[in-house]
Amino acid sequence: MNLIFMGPPGAGKGTQARRIAEKYGIPQLSTGDMLRAAVKAGTPVGLQAKAAMESGGLVTDAIVVGIIGDRIGEADCANGFILDGFPRTVGQAEALDTMLTERGLKIDQVIDITAADEALVSRITGRRTCGKCGEGYHIEHKAPAVENVCDKCGGALVTRADDTEETVRNRLTVYHAQTAPVLNFYRGKGEIKVVDGMQDMNVVFDALCAIIG
Ligand code: ADP
Ligand code: AMP
Repeated sequence: MNLIFMGPPGAGKGTQARRIAEKYGIPQLSTGDMLRAAVKAGTPVGLQAKAAMESGGLVTDAIVVGIIGDRIGEADCANGFILDGFPRTVGQAEALDTMLTERGLKIDQVIDITAADEALVSRITGRRTCGKCGEGYHIEHKAPAVENVCDKCGGALVTRADDTEETVRNRLTVYHAQTAPVLNFYRGKGEIKVVDGMQDMNVVFDALCAIIG
């Protein structure tokens, strides 16, 4: 089962992809997570990606297509994968198509998780992530039992450097200009499923499971 989770920043793609990955036993491939790891490790890719990420702009298609091309060839993707945050431009979607065709693969579901822009700013500025295991939290909607401590592993929660109000607004502008057209690309090729990401997280999860089967 090869899935794409689309949606604006803060819609809940990562939150849901982690749960779906656990339930279906397929990996979550988040280009954002991979790029953050590259920046942290100071790799050549990380050095090239850093400035665009800090400003809320997009990293070049060549970099992210290269990362995903390598990643979907790994053994744990043999039974499927969830793309989270990729493709973000029509160029990336076209490159993905080519890569999949070359490998005899196809996307089974493109799911658009929708949310209103006004809700996304507070979702993102309130987002916290465990620095140790990656579990996601929100200061209001999914608060940990002990402030700033991960319920799952006891790790310290961190705020992403790009989760400021100013950067979020830039990311939303970039989303509408460059990523929303990707939905039309997939609409033209067949059906896109839409899930209302403004609903409770568990309701969103159930809706996704109903689509995936
Ligand atoms: P994305 O991966 O799409 O950028 P996240 O999954 O990281 O978004 O979610 C952004 C923030 O919103 C997180 O703090 C998360 O806990 C919270 N969140 C996710 N889904 C919901 C929801 N349905 N209702 C309320 N808050 C949510
Ligand atoms: P995310 O974790 O999905 O919110 O992504 C964080 C940041 O990483 C984005 O604001 C971009 O700068 C960069 N990024 C992640 N995925 C992509 C992608 N597919 N194309 C370009 N830039 C990306």
